[in-house]
Formats: sequence, C-alpha cells, structure tokens
Amino acid sequence: MNEFSLIEAIKQKTYKQASLERGIGDDTAIFRETAGELAVAVDTFVEGVHFTEKTMSPFQLGYRALAANFSDLAAMGALPMYYLVSLVVPDRMKESKLLEIFKGMEHLSNRHGADLIGGDTVSGKDLVLSVTVIGKIEKGKARYRNLAKVGDIVFATGTLGDSRAGLYILQHDLQIDGRDYFINRHQLPTPRVTFSNSLRSIKRLALNDISDGIGNEVHEIAEESGVSIVLEDEKVPTHPGLAAFPAELQHKWKYFGGEDFELVGTVAKKDWQTVQQKAEKLNLRVTAIGHVMNKDEHAVYLDKNGNINKLSKEGYTHLK
Ligand code: ADP
Ligand code: MG
Repeated sequence: MNEFSLIEAIKQKTYKQASLERGIGDDTAIFRETAGELAVAVDTFVEGVHFTEKTMSPFQLGYRALAANFSDLAAMGALPMYYLVSLVVPDRMKESKLLEIFKGMEHLSNRHGADLIGGDTVSGKDLVLSVTVIGKIEKGKARYRNLAKVGDIVFATGTLGDSRAGLYILQHDLQIDGRDYFINRHQLPTPRVTFSNSLRSIKRLALNDISDGIGNEVHEIAEESGVSIVLEDEKVPTHPGLAAFPAELQHKWKYFGGEDFELVGTVAKKDWQTVQQKAEKLNLRVTAIGHVMNKDEHAVYLDKNGNINKLSKEGYTHLK
C-alpha cells in the first residue's frame, strides 16, 4: 500500500462537523471560525516506549492514542471537533494493521462526532503515531489548572490504578479475578468528554486528566493554583479487584499508575452537588477525595488514617 492508497482508504466519506469546508485531500484542511474558544493538543506514541505488540492491538493503539487526546480536551472542558494523524510507518508493517489503527480511532471519534481532517505519512524505522486534536469551548469555560481555590472540594472520576493493573496482568499473564476488566481499562479507556461537558453550567472548575497518575496531576493543580491539597487515602477510589495485589503495588498504581484517563478536579462546595448529579446521570462514579487548603508550600498531602505525609510528585515523568 502506498501513501496515496492509504489516504484514500482512511478518508471519511462524509464529515460530521458543520464548520468544515475541506477535509482530507488538499494542502490543508479548512474549517470556519466558530464562536467561543478553540482547544488544540497533540500526543505522540512510539512503539517500544508507549506500547508494544504484546499488550496492545493496532485497533487498541489507535483508539488509545485518540482517547489520550480526547482526555486532554475533556480536562480543558472542550468538545472534540477534529483530529489529524501523523504516522511514521516501518516498511515491514502490514497495511491491514495500519488500517486497524485508523479503525480504532474512528470507533472513538464517531462516539463524539469528531472528524479526521488531515495528517502526514512518512516511512521510518519504528512505528510512531502522533495525533493532534482540535476542540471547542464555550467562552470563559476553559477548565484551567490554576483555577483551584482554598476551600474547594477535590474530586476524581472512576477508579484509579486500573490501567496499570491491566498492563501488569498482561505482562505477567496473570489469571485473576477482574482480569478482563483491568485489561479493558488499559486497552480501551474512556475519556471523560461527556461528563466534563455536562458540567458546563458550573462557573469555575479546575480540571486535569489522569495520564501520569493522580499524585502528579494534583501537584500540577496545587502548583499552578498556588494552593495546597490534602487527599484522604481511604477515599481515593479503586476497583475492589485491586486488593488482590500487594499493598505496595496498590499504592503505587493508585497514585502514580497513570493512563486511567479519569479526571481530577476541584470545585467550590456550593457546586459539588451539581457535579454529583451530572455524574449520576451518566452512571459515572465521582468521589470527593480531599480539599484545597491555604499553605505556603503549594504541596500535596496524603492523610492515611490520620497520618499526614507529603505525597511525592513521582508519577511518570519522561526525560527525567
Ligand atoms: P501534501 O503533499 O500537500 O502535504 P500529502 O500527500 O502529505 O499532502 O497528504 C495529502 C492529504 O492526505 C492531505 O489532506 C493530508 O492531510 C492527508 N493525509 C496524509 N497522511 C495522512 C494521515 N496519516 N492521516 C490523515 N490524513 C492524512
Ligand atoms: Mg504532507
């Protein structure tokens, strides 16, 4: 398959976004200006660094790459509109696999009405997949990390550590209770786009998505907002199946596992009920896990049965 037949094969027959003038097939895509604000993000996945054939199928790789990007949009309060895909393709790669990557992306983008409007394809040594997304936000409703205020409730969606447990199960081929659940959470995570969007009526929210582990994400909110945050260990939500693993791994995955693509946020006490109601409507678990307080250090503390310690900023940080 050459570059041109690939582009023919992945090109959408129709587009969903009303603002689109030109999709794939010209020098650039064109869409009309939309009211409000636009959010743009890019994420890159390298074979052997971010995924391996053993733990992820091409379909899942495509899905997950787009999910990671949509999760960033969700964390900003944005709705996905468009995405572009840049590929480095090794010569040995079968074209059926390449098409599967795009099928995985299409599966998720269809759910949110987003269109593939362009990209670039080159050959190289290792498979690299880079996805750029464009989303829209109502004016003034961006969910910046620096919006946390003293007295806010800190909350998280879903359960944490699942994706890392799923990866561990795959890598060690473990047969345990909840195996399929954890693996699915690793391979096909759900970005919380719909939930984030359902919170539009709330004036101020600080949001971050959990891509590197909640330890890291909460630190980012604390530092950017110039506040301190206390998390209560027994409230941080985990799946019951996680209890099958050694306590040390549970702790590590819960706080530093990452890639669950859940959301962590802070909200004024008066708006907490709205957050709960919106989550309930979507059948999504949302849990109050701590609060924002006034301290000079801009640190994160973990309250474990009354013992309060600083939570380190480990998580996964590349280029360390
Ligand atoms: P140009 O030479 O003008 O840069 P290309 O031949 O690279 O154009 O691409 C032709 C069209 O196909 C463009 O619309 C481009 O955005 C699209 N395209 C190329 N590669 C991809 C890809 N991997 N995913 C999506 N669209 C792609
Ligand atoms: Mg090009």
